[in-house]
Amino acid sequence: MSLPPLVEPAAELTVDEVRRYSRHLIIPDVGMAGQKRLKNAKVLCVGAGGLGSPALLYLAAAGVGTLGIIDFDVVDESNLQRQVIHGQSDVGRPKAESAANSVREINPLIEVVVHNTVLTTENVMEIFSGYDLIVDGTDNFATRYMVNDAAVLLGKPYVWGSIYRFDGQASVFWAEHGPCYRCLYPEPPPPGMVPSCAEGGVLGVLCASVGSIQVNEAIKLLTGIGDPLVGRLMIYDALEMKYRDVKVRKDPECVLCGKNPTVTELLEDYEAFCGAVSEEAAEAASGSTITALELKAMQDNGENIFLVDVREPNEYEIVSIPGATLIPKGEFLNGSALERLPQDKKIVLHCKSGARSAEALAVVKNAGFADAVHVGGGVLSWVKTVDPSLPSY
Ligand code: ZN
Repeated sequence: MSLPPLVEPAAELTVDEVRRYSRHLIIPDVGMAGQKRLKNAKVLCVGAGGLGSPALLYLAAAGVGTLGIIDFDVVDESNLQRQVIHGQSDVGRPKAESAANSVREINPLIEVVVHNTVLTTENVMEIFSGYDLIVDGTDNFATRYMVNDAAVLLGKPYVWGSIYRFDGQASVFWAEHGPCYRCLYPEPPPPGMVPSCAEGGVLGVLCASVGSIQVNEAIKLLTGIGDPLVGRLMIYDALEMKYRDVKVRKDPECVLCGKNPTVTELLEDYEAFCGAVSEEAAEAASGSTITALELKAMQDNGENIFLVDVREPNEYEIVSIPGATLIPKGEFLNGSALERLPQDKKIVLHCKSGARSAEALAVVKNAGFADAVHVGGGVLSWVKTVDPSLPSY
């Protein structure tokens, strides 16, 4: 499958541009025409994080004329293991601004547009409409579905990538020519089922492997060369060092891009659609959530509590709350944790940020521990409010 170029060529390249892009210009498939198309191209990168870092660096170096960067977050020390667009001195700065700095240093001949804001249903259509193509480097399902829906509604291609531990995936979703993200994943996964990189970790260099696939595909679409990753899902296994691709068909029943779409505008609330925690967990946590400071006070007062850390052993090793017993969430879901809970103590659960402990809390309450509670914000909140000398992750 080949597709026509996404953008028209710019009128000309300057002498500086010819010098800079000479290694592109002497590739027959790219040539002057291809480089002029890149110059005329407007690409938006959603997220200046793990995938956005390599993507932005290479899109800039390649000479994409207008490069948009949207991110609301600030650079954290734990980002530097993989988000190579940011440096030590950028810690605490807005990611969008830090990324823009790096990009301008790599290529002063391109225009950089900084969107230092949260992408929302209010602004996504307007922001996207200024670009030819979207590169998706988001790390959560709510944003991902919103990016997909906006791209489909605006008829724009978007290059998607996803990373977790040693596994990467990438594809090009473009409803005009193939499937959209909803054709592949009609429903978001149940809350709590798919751990994020913040929960499960990611090998830093995996970002480069997947981000470079995304840039590769963006350049092909913009210039109309090669066989784009439309209708194919690229799956990369860094441990086996294997790439394979599987066909993804457009789903004629897709609620968004199928024959009889029922989703014809953006959803009102993507967070609710994807559910940060399940309904059961939200119900269990309502009225049964304490703060880290309240937990500290309970401990200091010698209250009769049994504190359970529901994270994984390697997380417990990084940082833990004094006195906590480790029983991973999975043991609550399969029921085996229950016999380890004392009947004569108040059960207090915690995890990293409060989502997993809410899931476990639902199980514990169902088993009859009516006064059980969990710590909102988890160990991260403990580090922040009770003992900042402990490491965060
Ligand atoms: Zn679809």
